[in-house]
Amino acid sequence: MSSRPIYLDNAATTAVDPRVIAAMSSCLGADGDFANPSSANHVYGREASARVEHARAEVAALVNAAPDQILFTSGATEANNLALLGAARFHSKRSRHIVTSRTEHPAVLDACRQLEREGCAVTYLKPGPSGIVEVEQVAEAVRPDTLLVSLMHVNNEIGVINDIGAIGRLCRERGVLFHVDAAQSAGKLPIDVQNDAIDLLSLTAHKLHGPKGIGALCVRREPRLGLVPLQFGGGQERGLRSGTLPTHQIVGLGAAYRIARESMSVDIPRIAGLRERLWQALAAIPGVELNGDPVRRVAGILNVTVDGVEGEALLLALADLAVSSGSACASLHAEPSYVLRALGRSDRLAQSSLRLSLGRFTTEAEVEQAAARMGDEIVRLRAGEPRSGAMPDLADDARYNLEVRRRLHALPGWGDLPNAPSVASGRAGDREQGTAVEFAFRIERDRVTETRFRAFGCPHVLAAASWAAEAARGLDRSELAGWDWQEAARVLEVPAAKFGRLLTLQDAIRAVVRNWPAATESTV
Ligand SMILES: *Cc1c(COP(=O)(O)O)cnc(C)c1O
Repeated sequence: MSSRPIYLDNAATTAVDPRVIAAMSSCLGADGDFANPSSANHVYGREASARVEHARAEVAALVNAAPDQILFTSGATEANNLALLGAARFHSKRSRHIVTSRTEHPAVLDACRQLEREGCAVTYLKPGPSGIVEVEQVAEAVRPDTLLVSLMHVNNEIGVINDIGAIGRLCRERGVLFHVDAAQSAGKLPIDVQNDAIDLLSLTAHKLHGPKGIGALCVRREPRLGLVPLQFGGGQERGLRSGTLPTHQIVGLGAAYRIARESMSVDIPRIAGLRERLWQALAAIPGVELNGDPVRRVAGILNVTVDGVEGEALLLALADLAVSSGSACASLHAEPSYVLRALGRSDRLAQSSLRLSLGRFTTEAEVEQAAARMGDEIVRLRAGEPRSGAMPDLADDARYNLEVRRRLHALPGWGDLPNAPSVASGRAGDREQGTAVEFAFRIERDRVTETRFRAFGCPHVLAAASWAAEAARGLDRSELAGWDWQEAARVLEVPAAKFGRLLTLQDAIRAVVRNWPAATESTV
């Protein structure tokens, strides 16, 4: 009976609420509202159209907009693209300067890069260490030729909240368009496009227990805001977003937003309480730090840096928790989180970070268990202690072969080895660089008889250090000098991108050879 990991990745996506599934199902089959909402000449089409318009009103109501301000899109990515590319291309003969921030979602950053190629100038604001973009920064960045300011309401990695009301009013005063990416905040924080003076607002369903593949762009009505569409065809959505309207998806979005509006006052304090409970438990562990502003943050997101433990190793040890990390190699991307680095975290600390995000279906018991598990694993990994009991089949991660998982499960690590003349030790690497290894070998009659190691690094480095410590036993000095990392790389199936880290291991072994005790060398 293997249970699935505890799901704490609701900022990536959420499970669809059963009430939403029911509403969507009623739009699919022959008995349901499956028709093309544009087919106005028969009752099937008119009924489907009524469902779509009802959903449009639900979406509008959540952000205090009028229904005709809502354009359905495939999600927040498309809404962001339509807002930025659409507005900038419409005004291509006029002002061409855009203000955004370095910690925006790639859907905004990459759209801005595209606009730079099309001749726009873009200012990328750097938030302070709290992760928040302050209204004063925006005021300073806005120029006479600024067309638009684009900022997220809530950051998807660290959960901090920008003061969109203050920024919106500033933009309106200066005659600049204001676009807000509200993918992480809709239904979690109050949004009022009128009062907050928001001209363009990007929304999505799947971060709020709705289906993936549907979202909306809310567009200011008066004075009319010009947009150039991204795609051309049947002219749906006032010609701004052609394509047959996906009735079931739109109805799912509407239902998800209605439920959120009705349950916000109950859900949000509950989720905030659970997040606080989780943070209190983690804060009690030395070396665990909160990322982002401690107060101005959304209910469901907690991002922490765990000093002294490499992020990928922690993630693997925590295979019974489904969380997201700032670790580079977990996803085999080359870079650690650009958001955490923009806040001034070093690469190493950015890599040792975890995002835990809670949702409507997260329970108190899950949070308690997650906190306890994290506490245990952080202590264990720092001490290099073996784990007791059977290897959990949850560590069944395809990126690591059985030997890596076996060695990580039973890290022999560091233990007592007297600092006697018969002990040769060697170290190499640097935690700041992400890999550090230290060996201590007991030498008797010119051979290695006992070995200890301690390592900071990704799972492959920890496993390779354990492998090297075992392989060294029985070797003499020249045999040890000839040891190379290739065998460990082969047996542990280390990806080529990590070979450089194994060279650190080899350097540590070479340091042992250099420190070979002279006394034993001379004994026969
Ligand atoms: C998830 C997310 C997006 C992308 O939304 P999709 O609907 O998946 O395209 C954009 N911005 C932020 C802040 C997000 O969290």
